[in-house]
Amino acid sequence: MENLIVFGHKSPDTDTICSAIAMSDLQKKLGKEVKAVRLGELNKETKYALDYLGVEVPELISKVEDNQEVILVDHNEFTQSVDNIENAKIKMVVDHHRISDFKTAEPLYYRAEPVGCTCTVLFKLYKENGVQIDKKIAGLMLSAIISDTLLLKSPTKTDEDEKAVKELAEIAGLDYEKYGLDMLKAGTDLSDLSGDELINLDCKEFNLNDKKAKVAQVNTADIPEMMTRKAEFEAAMQKDIATNGVDLFVFAITDIINSNSEVIVLGNSAPIFEKAFGKTLEDNTAFLPGVVSRKKQILPVLQENA
Ligand code: MN
Ligand code: MN
Repeated sequence: MENLIVFGHKSPDTDTICSAIAMSDLQKKLGKEVKAVRLGELNKETKYALDYLGVEVPELISKVEDNQEVILVDHNEFTQSVDNIENAKIKMVVDHHRISDFKTAEPLYYRAEPVGCTCTVLFKLYKENGVQIDKKIAGLMLSAIISDTLLLKSPTKTDEDEKAVKELAEIAGLDYEKYGLDMLKAGTDLSDLSGDELINLDCKEFNLNDKKAKVAQVNTADIPEMMTRKAEFEAAMQKDIATNGVDLFVFAITDIINSNSEVIVLGNSAPIFEKAFGKTLEDNTAFLPGVVSRKKQILPVLQENA
């Protein structure tokens, strides 16, 4: 394996994959030997972007060798990283999430900004390093920002994301609104996935005051249609709770057109959710108007009340 590998989180999303590819491109242009890899299967939205742009899918890895030098993008929490991350030497992190349970033995480059997407930070890094962004990489970074900010509609979106989108769309030669909607829609075609696959498609594990919490999310244009499969999702969640000792499992089904979420909540610590959101679960579900961001509208609320 290369001296240096770069990867994003498990259950990879478009930002994780595109950030890994863009970061390896930037580092190569700065003279480093580096390779982008991934920790899981691509979702349909990411596949759409890579196909459209004609970009190769990074290699899948499940663990790293001892002392493997790595760059983390789009995450820092070890629960979301490669299984044996403790054995790696983390050289760099570029991220836009909370920092939790992160430690290294040696100094490192760490860049985190509270923007909507890791690729927005990378966009700035290209500029700071005086490296030109080529057309394909611009398309990838644009896809990531559209994905993470739901076409600039999420409350996580900042002016910097918007600025990056406009400039990257120009370089990529793409009408970002049309391309973005097509890409997001490609990601909502979930009919052929099992309940198990759906709860793991975009699932993140968090440590909430020593409780093991999982918050999974899927995008849809039709919440009622997704909810016809509620029993199947619940069975998959219960199985995961029993197998992995999960205390709280929140599955958010997010309507990307109207910007709302319906959640299914299970686990012994479900009362944490009820207290945090001031809602009584009905049949294990609750409707959260205006909620689309796990990072900004779900996790901090749970964290404060855990
Ligand atoms: Mn991500
Ligand atoms: Mn991201």
